[in-house]
Amino acid sequence: MSDVRYLDWPFLEPHHRALAAMLDEWCTMHLAHTSHDDVDASCRALVRQLGSAGWLRHAIAGLAHGGASDQIDTRALCLIRETLARHDGLADFAFAMQGLGSGAISLHGTPAQRTAYLPRVAIGDLIAAFALSEPDAGSDVAALSCAAGMDGDSVVLNGEKTWISNGGIADFYVVFARTGEAAGSRGISAFIVDADTPGLEIAERIQVIAPHPLARLRFTDCRIPITARLGGAGEGFKVAMRTLDVFRTSVAAAALGFARRALDEALARATTRRMFGGVLSDLQLTQASLAQMATTIDSAALHTYRTAWMRDCGQNVTREAAMAKLVATEGAQEVIDAAVQLLGGLGVTSGNPVEQLYREIRSLRIYEGATEVQQLIIARDLLRVYAERA
Ligand SMILES: Cc1cc2nc3c(=O)[nH]c(=O)nc-3n(C[C@H](O)[C@H](O)[C@H](O)COP(=O)(O)OP(=O)(O)OC[C@H]3O[C@@H](n4cnc5c(N)ncnc54)[C@H](O)[C@@H]3O)c2cc1C
Repeated sequence: MSDVRYLDWPFLEPHHRALAAMLDEWCTMHLAHTSHDDVDASCRALVRQLGSAGWLRHAIAGLAHGGASDQIDTRALCLIRETLARHDGLADFAFAMQGLGSGAISLHGTPAQRTAYLPRVAIGDLIAAFALSEPDAGSDVAALSCAAGMDGDSVVLNGEKTWISNGGIADFYVVFARTGEAAGSRGISAFIVDADTPGLEIAERIQVIAPHPLARLRFTDCRIPITARLGGAGEGFKVAMRTLDVFRTSVAAAALGFARRALDEALARATTRRMFGGVLSDLQLTQASLAQMATTIDSAALHTYRTAWMRDCGQNVTREAAMAKLVATEGAQEVIDAAVQLLGGLGVTSGNPVEQLYREIRSLRIYEGATEVQQLIIARDLLRVYAERA
């Protein structure tokens, strides 16, 4: 187990500490020797494993629908992502996507939608995906053009979505499409689309540097019932942002898990690698590097668990979640790079844990709002509060 003194911080409660310890033990027993040569099969297996062990219950809301609590416990969500990421990046991905993919149903689903999807997501029987980005609408998501036209009691989807995690293995997609009630962000609605709906196809599987199931989806006259809409007409942007608001803090937690693992690997190597008549960690430059890594990790953890605690207390965390994601993902990149450096040639050897972490961390600085988008969110909030004070 990693250095766990942060679990004593006042942001966490006894049940969070117990959860983190139990999951760490479970990961050591179940994830230590998993091979991910076939990424689709591994991901499906991980979803089932996480579901049957009860961990996915923390990714959805509603005790009546198989959730661990009525509202998502952000601190539990973060501790789970951090712990899974420290052990196995794909396990973290499998867990996170069950939450992100079903988050809009947890937050905005009708009783019928919640009953149909959430209990099966919580046991790993249905795989979820969140389909917002498009080839011409990533950071500028309000520019999305995938169209949803009304035809009697049906909605007909035409267009594309890309970079969709779990694309190709998901059982359903929460899709955001333009319904045109107003221009820009106020003319978008959200829909649940089952993967086997005629007119929905996987146009392309996308390979990335840290392999995960990822795809471009194409909708061609894809007809779904109006009862598949999540939230009101024209409220899709709000649905997407509220969902991302919950999960953005958990991206910071995943980055923290990757960074902690990198520091553990660096410590193990630095204290055993013999050189210059001693070991690597005897050298003061090495100690400076280790000290910087630990300090960066604590800064990220403080931001992450402060935000999670505030959210669980019912406070608005738009600014804090953006800060947490920015500090934790950028910091983890620095920590992992420093670990690669400390390991020398081993650090860039395929299959070495720090080499995997080096590939794994990169996309966290891009998805769910790139670093520059987080900077804009923070600055806008800062200026808004300043204007109110003036
Ligand atoms: C591994 C992975 C998984 C993903 N999973 C999903 C998913 O499940 N569902 C989904 O809907 N999407 C998903 N995405 C898409 C992701 O959210 C987008 O990649 C992201 O929003 C950026 O969009 P883009 O790639 O089109 O980059 P662009 O929008 O073209 O942006 C390119 C770069 O421009 C910079 N930039 C952006 N805004 C500004 C600004 N205002 N000022 C200055 N610079 C700026 C940033 O550095 C950004 O990286 C995933 C992406 C990746 C890489």
